[in-house]
Amino acid sequence: MDFYNQSLCYAENGSKNVALAYAHRSACFFHMEKYEEALIDIQLAKNANVSEDQLTEMDQRKSECEKLIVKKPLENLPKLSYEADTNFPSIANVLELKNSPEFGRYFVAKCDIPCGKIVLAEESFIGVRKDNPWMYCSECLQMNTNLIPCQSCATTVFCSNKCMAKNTAHKWECGTNFNLFDCEIKFQGQAIFLAIDTFGSIDQLMEFIESILCDVEKQPMSLLDSKSKYHFFFNLSKSLLHADDILLVYKIYIDLMKIPKIAALFDSKEKQRFLAHLVAHHFLVILNNAHGNNSYQSVGAIFSMFNHSCTPNVMQFFDGKQHLVTIRPVKKGDQLFISYLGKQKHSLEQRQEICKSKWNFICNCERCNSVGEIVDHNTITSDVHYIFVLENGYTEDQSSEVLDHCEKFLNNYAHLPWSDEIQFVIDIYCAHLSRNNLNQLL
Ligand SMILES: [Zn+2]
Ligand SMILES: [Zn+2]
Ligand SMILES: [Zn+2]
Repeated sequence: MDFYNQSLCYAENGSKNVALAYAHRSACFFHMEKYEEALIDIQLAKNANVSEDQLTEMDQRKSECEKLIVKKPLENLPKLSYEADTNFPSIANVLELKNSPEFGRYFVAKCDIPCGKIVLAEESFIGVRKDNPWMYCSECLQMNTNLIPCQSCATTVFCSNKCMAKNTAHKWECGTNFNLFDCEIKFQGQAIFLAIDTFGSIDQLMEFIESILCDVEKQPMSLLDSKSKYHFFFNLSKSLLHADDILLVYKIYIDLMKIPKIAALFDSKEKQRFLAHLVAHHFLVILNNAHGNNSYQSVGAIFSMFNHSCTPNVMQFFDGKQHLVTIRPVKKGDQLFISYLGKQKHSLEQRQEICKSKWNFICNCERCNSVGEIVDHNTITSDVHYIFVLENGYTEDQSSEVLDHCEKFLNNYAHLPWSDEIQFVIDIYCAHLSRNNLNQLL
């Protein structure tokens, strides 16, 4: 798949190699039992004028796909479980934004929310994958799908014409090797491209930044327009600047200035100084707010405002959008917490150490404060829902039943102190909520 994607990127537009790559990739999808994707590639190969003898093979594969295709559940991306908030459409209207000196900006529940409710579905503000750039859609970050190449360069692919049309960042780097850089540098590039695209000119961007720096208390009241979104991102909490970071910031600045279109925009000493400062600001915001795992990193405006607890009541799963699902029953007025620590099991000391060194706070959650963790493992492990999840969690056949048993288990037990069993059910639950995550788990 990797090589066919890459050959698609390098094939000359309109050449027979384009058709050949789609045709061969359809065979990959067929072997992966991804018949719908195979059908799309067969059509893409035909559109690209696949040769006569290949055409017969394509038609054969097409009819085999049509025979084998079964409509599976989980076709659609998960949606919010409630109506969307009017001003912040990525969150459910059961959450309320609060502000306090202790927590900064955070969310509380406006009513009781049971387990298994999706309360956030947010497109990343910026996001990158750590894989090769020809392996995933530059806009929505989807992998193993019908990727189509940018017609003007050999380093960027999209999952659909829709994503290609929606993407604004790539035009800045197209034709340069910027997309081949480290994920960290690409991330910074995206933030700068977005800042430039949000405003008509560098002068307007500078004026806007000047105005928000004069009034740091002022927060955008909605996320409905691109300026508010950028304002939101700009105001996210920053990491402290370490001496080592300055060199990295300088490198990012130099790499950006190597892009001819960027150099042409920042054509005076004043503008270049502004760009260097903006890169440094973005760098610290991203350092403090980027979330992800070993395959992707992203920053979402709303998602970045959730605080940490070692006993989170919402869990994130990524499926093109960042989602949050309740994993414990949440009472009216409760704050919603995610975990910054991922799936690794950490001791109390390790958790405290990571929170302090990485995010500069001392975790004061109920788990860190409790003296011992008293969990009756026998009750949990003999629970019928737990046993069902244990036996069926790693297959995709009974996905909706698995989800159902997970929800019942979590509603019964997730109020108890955190345990490996609860973590296990939550991981399986999040995986079954989306096809992409399930594929990764299997
Ligand atoms: Zn896409
Ligand atoms: Zn391009
Ligand atoms: Zn804690």
